[in-house]
Amino acid sequence: MSSETDFTLAIEDLTVSFDGFKAVNGLSMYIDRNELRVVIGPNGAGKTTVLDLICGKTKATSGSIKFKNHELTNLSEHQIVRAGVGRKFQTPSIYENLSVFENLEISYPKGRGVFGSLAFERTAEVEARIREVAADIFLEDSLEMEAALLSHGQKQWLEIGMLLIQDPELLMLDEPVAGMSVREREQTADLLNRICQGRSVLVIEHDMEFVARIAHKVTVLHQGMILAEGSMDKVQNDPKVIEVYLGH
Ligand code: ADP
Ligand code: MG
Repeated sequence: MSSETDFTLAIEDLTVSFDGFKAVNGLSMYIDRNELRVVIGPNGAGKTTVLDLICGKTKATSGSIKFKNHELTNLSEHQIVRAGVGRKFQTPSIYENLSVFENLEISYPKGRGVFGSLAFERTAEVEARIREVAADIFLEDSLEMEAALLSHGQKQWLEIGMLLIQDPELLMLDEPVAGMSVREREQTADLLNRICQGRSVLVIEHDMEFVARIAHKVTVLHQGMILAEGSMDKVQNDPKVIEVYLGH
C-alpha cells in the first residue's frame, strides 16, 4: 500500500499501545516541505506521543513513519536526529552556565564543513553560521551573555537556535510559546514563519491566537485519532472540534 511520496513526512496507520491503551490509534498524516503544520487537541489526545514516535523516543506498535521516503520506525533516536529531524521539548535544555555563543557552538554539527578546509577557515565558517542563527532568534546582541541570565522566552529561542544550527529538514516544537509574553509570542510567530522556508515544521500548541498566526494547516487530535484537519478557518468552525476542544 505504501508508495514513494513527495512529502517530507508521511505517517500511515500509526498506532502505539501502552498496556492495551491506544494513545495513538491508526493515525495518518502528511506534511509537505515548506509547510508549517500545527497539531491541537485536548490534554491526553496523544499530541506529545506523536512527536515521541517520530523522534524514536517511543517505539510504534504498528504503522509507518516515512521521512523523505525513509522508514524511521526502526531507527534509533540518534539516527533519526542525524537523518535531519530536530525536536524541541517543552522545557528548554540549554547549558545555563555557558554563553549564548557557546551554546550554539556546541550544537554545530561536527564533521560538517568544507572537506580539507584549514582550521581557521572552519572557525570562520562556524562563527558566521552562529551569528546568522543568533540573528534569526533575536539574540545577535546577546552572544556573550550567560544563558542563565536570559529571559524564559529567550531561553526557548536559544534552544530553537541550537536545533536550527543543525539545519534539520523537519523541526518539531512542543508548546513553544508556553510562558512567553505577548511580545515574545509575536516574535516567535515571526520566527516560525521564517524558518519553515526550505523545511517542514510541526508545532503542538494550545494558544489559538498564536496558532492562527502560524498554521498553514491544522490537525485536531482526539483520543489518538484525527478529529478534523484543514485550514484554521475550517477546523475552527467544525462542530466536532467546537464540542470536544474549542468549546471549553
Ligand atoms: P497530549 O500531549 O495530547 O496532552 P500525550 O501524548 O502526552 O497527550 O498522552 C496521551 C495519552 O497517552 C495520555 O493518556 C498519557 O497518559 C498516555 N501516555 C503517554 N505516554 C505514555 C507512556 N510512555 N506510557 C503510558 N502511557 C502514556
Ligand atoms: Mg503534550
